[in-house]
Amino acid sequence: MQEVNAHAVSNGVFDKLDNAFKNFFEKRAKYPRFKSKRDKQSFRLPGSEIKYDTQNKRVYICRIGWLKMRETIRFDYTKIYRITVSCRAGKWYVAFTLEVVDDRQLGENQALTSVGIDLGINKSATCSDGTILDNPRIFNTYAVRLRKLNKELARRTKGGRNWWKTVFKLQKLHARIADLRQDYIHKFTTAINRKYGIVCLEDLNVKGMSRNHKLARHILDVSFGEIRRQFEYKALEVRYVPRFFPSSKRCSSCGREQEMPLSQRRYVCDCGLDLDRDLNAAINIRTFAVSSTGSKKPAVKTAQVLSKGKTKQSHGQEENSVFAVRRNV
Ligand SMILES: [Zn+2]
Repeated sequence: MQEVNAHAVSNGVFDKLDNAFKNFFEKRAKYPRFKSKRDKQSFRLPGSEIKYDTQNKRVYICRIGWLKMRETIRFDYTKIYRITVSCRAGKWYVAFTLEVVDDRQLGENQALTSVGIDLGINKSATCSDGTILDNPRIFNTYAVRLRKLNKELARRTKGGRNWWKTVFKLQKLHARIADLRQDYIHKFTTAINRKYGIVCLEDLNVKGMSRNHKLARHILDVSFGEIRRQFEYKALEVRYVPRFFPSSKRCSSCGREQEMPLSQRRYVCDCGLDLDRDLNAAINIRTFAVSSTGSKKPAVKTAQVLSKGKTKQSHGQEENSVFAVRRNV
C-alpha cells in the first residue's frame, strides 16, 4: 500500500470497509478479514488524483506515471468518479467509474416492448420472443487443459521456477475463460437491451442453487448473477418475478398449472398449447412482470480498459495472487 499513493489508502479502503461491515451486519457475509497480499491486487484512486489523456490513450497515476491504455473510454462522461487499478494474470487493468448522461431514452415503441427471460442450464437464456442464447459451456471446452495444467502444477516443486511458470499459465487460462464468459454475456445483454425497454427476469436464488453440487458448476458457468448484473445497469428497466412464481408449471396460453419434471422439455396443455418448456416459462415471466411495476436504475457505468503490457511489478504480483488461483482449481 505504501508503494502506491496516499489517496489509495484514504479513499478506497473506507468505502470497502463500510461495505464489508454492511454485508456482515445484514448477514450476507462473514466478519470482514484484513486484506491479504494473496488476495486480488487492486487499489482505488479518486478521479481528482489522476489525469486522463484521450488523445494519447494514456492515464497518469501518481508515483507510477503515465500508463498507456489499450482502449479509450467508450462513453460520453461528465466526470470521473474514481478508478480502480487491478492486476490479473500479469496484465494491468484500470476500471473507470464515470458519471454519464443517462441517454437511455425510450426508442420508438420501446416503451411498449418488454421481454421475459428464462435463465437455464441447457440454454443459458430463452427469451419470450423465441431468441435463444446457447450455453457455450466455456468451462467444459477448457476443462481438459485446466486438468492438464493442474497435474503439471502438482508435479512441480512448490515455489520452484517451473512451478511459478505453471502457476502463471494457469492464471492466464483462468483469465481467458473469464474474459470469454464476460464477452458472450455482454453481447447478449446489449442486443436485448437495444430491442426492449423492459427486461423481465426471475428472481433466482443463485447462491442456493450453487449449493446443489451437481448443478453448481454449470450454474456458475452460465453466470446467472452476471447476466442479471449487466441487465441492471444496461436496461431501461428490470422487473423481477418472485422466486416461487410457477413460471414452468403454468400454461402461458390458458393459465392452468401442471407438474413439470425437469426431464419434460415441452409444455403440452389440454388447451392445445405445445411449446418448448423454457419458452413457455419466458412468456409467463413477461406476462407476470408486465402486470406489476418496477423502478429505474441509477446511471453509473463502469468501463474496463486494459492498460498496455506488463510492468516491472508483474512478477511480484504473480507471486501474491497465486493462492487465489489455487482456490478456484
Ligand atoms: Zn393451456
